[in-house]
Amino acid sequence: MSLNIKKGDKVTVLTGKSKGESGKVISVLTADKRVVVEGVNLVTEHNKPRKSTEQGGIITKEAPLDVSNVMLICPKCNKPCRTGVKTNFVDGKKVKVRICKKCGAEIATPDSTK
Ligand SMILES: [Zn+2]
Repeated sequence: MSLNIKKGDKVTVLTGKSKGESGKVISVLTADKRVVVEGVNLVTEHNKPRKSTEQGGIITKEAPLDVSNVMLICPKCNKPCRTGVKTNFVDGKKVKVRICKKCGAEIATPDSTK
């Protein structure tokens, strides 16, 4: 099953400590139904140097969020929206596009090939 959130989408967080924050999806973990959103749900990791030449330190990185906790922001009406699917015919081929259930705008998939 593919998720209705794609890499490159703008989403907003519905629940949890990052509720209300929004950002761009930088990674989709389809098997886990999780997404990584740029600048959201940051966790700090303490890195110990494994070799004497390595520098230890604290790094901040995004932890994945459950896809059910985020909602796509429609690029047209700029509001979090539920999506539907519409089938278009392009050169005689069926192409499924996502649509915003609020304003009906087609939502392009930013990185459909990845
Ligand atoms: Zn919309």
